[in-house]
Amino acid sequence: MTNRQEADLHVHTTASDGTLTPGQVIHEAVKASLAAVGIADHDTVDGVAEALGAGPSAGIMVVPAVEINTDFDEGEIHILGYYIDYESTTLRERLESLRTARIERARRIVDRLNELGLKVGMDRVKEVAADAPIGRPHIARAIVKAGYAPTVSSAFGKYLVRGAPAYIPRYKLTPFQAIEIIHDAGAAAVFAHPGLSHHDELIPKLVDAGLQGIEVYHCDHSKSQSAHYLEVAHRYNLIPTGGSDSHGPNNIKTVAIGSVRVDISIAYRLREFAEGIQGSRVPGI
Ligand SMILES: [Zn+2]
Ligand SMILES: [Zn+2]
Repeated sequence: MTNRQEADLHVHTTASDGTLTPGQVIHEAVKASLAAVGIADHDTVDGVAEALGAGPSAGIMVVPAVEINTDFDEGEIHILGYYIDYESTTLRERLESLRTARIERARRIVDRLNELGLKVGMDRVKEVAADAPIGRPHIARAIVKAGYAPTVSSAFGKYLVRGAPAYIPRYKLTPFQAIEIIHDAGAAAVFAHPGLSHHDELIPKLVDAGLQGIEVYHCDHSKSQSAHYLEVAHRYNLIPTGGSDSHGPNNIKTVAIGSVRVDISIAYRLREFAEGIQGSRVPGI
């Protein structure tokens, strides 16, 4: 047994494309002996309230967060926002418009699939997504369900990746705009899994735009990548965050909650920044 207090700062719930409800995430966090968990859904803060409701009685501190998907060059850059004012109307409206753009994109992808002869309807995609913001993983699952591909990853490869016949570029939001949205909502902005983005040249520009942290530890970072980004964090005076990016058990891959963790002091440093903007009203721990 160790008394070390640890946090998994990057977990998805059914509010976006995760398979566990916020309540179930808290349950898993308890089983993983975590002290804190960051609820970081894509483009939504709808899972935060439920987690905050369930966390304290389970002994889990909840870090209200969001993960905003943005576009850069030919790829995607994800920006995390920590200790976000999840009740802010402005934030909710801004995230809502990002989600509307997602639905519009999904509609166009489905149209393209229909043109290709696949009988996959938007109703089917919505059914798969349940209440979550619709994304390509839901379309991929609908394709598999309809029998046009054996696995989600093959559905992606055959139809949905960039260059595939049903690929539609998403509405463009820059990482700088995401940092602004996050700061406006009183939160600390963190560059998510930079090892997957392959755009290290962007880091100084993000720092200039007011970035607070960088996700050093992530399920898809190798040891040498984590060592590299820890060095980058020191160089730019960024908070070195980390999290599993768990989406719950699913058919792409299952990453356990708590499989990537950082010391609780990292959460406190993020909170300190948010307090600088929001004062002591900061939600969460
Ligand atoms: Zn991400
Ligand atoms: Zn994520």
